Amino acid sequence: MRTRFVFPEGKNKALTMSYDDGVVADRRLVEIFNRYGIKGTFHLNSATFGNKGKIEPEEVATLYKGHEVSCHAATHPFLERIPRGEVMREVWEDRKRIEELAGYPVLSMSYPYGTHNDEVIEILRAAGIHCCRTTAATKAFGLPNEFLAWHPTCHHRDALPLIPNFLNIKYPLAVFFVWGHAYEFDNNNNWEDIESFCQQMAGHEDIWYATNIEICRYVKAVRSLDVSADGTMIYNPSATEIWFTADNALMSIKAGETIKL
Ligand SMILES: [Zn+2]
Repeated sequence: MRTRFVFPEGKNKALTMSYDDGVVADRRLVEIFNRYGIKGTFHLNSATFGNKGKIEPEEVATLYKGHEVSCHAATHPFLERIPRGEVMREVWEDRKRIEELAGYPVLSMSYPYGTHNDEVIEILRAAGIHCCRTTAATKAFGLPNEFLAWHPTCHHRDALPLIPNFLNIKYPLAVFFVWGHAYEFDNNNNWEDIESFCQQMAGHEDIWYATNIEICRYVKAVRSLDVSADGTMIYNPSATEIWFTADNALMSIKAGETIKL
């Protein structure tokens, strides 16, 4: 029997968008994502709320409804250039403020300027962060070894030419992970590019439109399944229903369930 783990409802692929800095142009970007059913994660610097060009704290819960809000460090420093205790405070204070506004635990993040070192990763782990995006483009659709150094597929400026490759993929758990800043569409006067990207990527039956943490949680749950040595028994110790195909039949294992194939 051949089992293949897939995304929820048997979808082979996922698309996730990741936007930094909590800028007023997020309002227009969220409206576009909502129109096409595309999900994003918005990485916010809580110490900059209300500054020129930045969103107001009062709009965090409403503007990003249906998407994910996430940390980006409170004041946007280079995390590898400040004392260790300050790294913890930057993340912890950001979490507390954003959680208070969003009303749920905030456990994903992106690195200010995309930079980090091994020690920063360990501090994030201690601060309870599940996943943190870099800016190192892979131009590929793979899964990270370490979710605290999760390299995206590409910046949005490079995303349009990769669409045909992604749509042709047949292997499971492929992720198209796009990052950027919404203000770049104002600066470069190219909102039509993201509109075109969303239009081409929307409405595909084999794509799961998910936030960063939804993909992280799902993949971690797949990796944590207990499978018998002969491959015929699977226990799901996670809180997430996991989907797979067995000899091409779509099946799922509910949270806490053991199944025999
Ligand atoms: Zn930033």
